[in-house]
Amino acid sequence: MQNRNPRRAYTKDGSMVQPATVASHRKNGGHRVDIWCNDCNHHAEVSTDGLPDDLPIPDICLRYRCSKCGGKNLMSRPSVHEHRGQVTRKQNAS
Ligand SMILES: [Zn+2]
Repeated sequence: MQNRNPRRAYTKDGSMVQPATVASHRKNGGHRVDIWCNDCNHHAEVSTDGLPDDLPIPDICLRYRCSKCGGKNLMSRPSVHEHRGQVTRKQNAS
């Protein structure tokens, strides 16, 4: 079996889905990323300021360590709260 990257999504036929990067996230108006700890479920939000444009969002977690349990088993993805805010603003626009 193919060696898959646990931080990537794959299609049914097994090809890797290109992840969002810091640059594409910023283009969508996102400046924050949610990080979860898989060991203790601690959740934190980090800014993408100062991160390289070509850094995949799922790899941002590699740069962090859980502040609660010290674990490195983290998961990062674009901030859902930020997206919810954008949707609300668009719906309110006349
Ligand atoms: Zn933790």
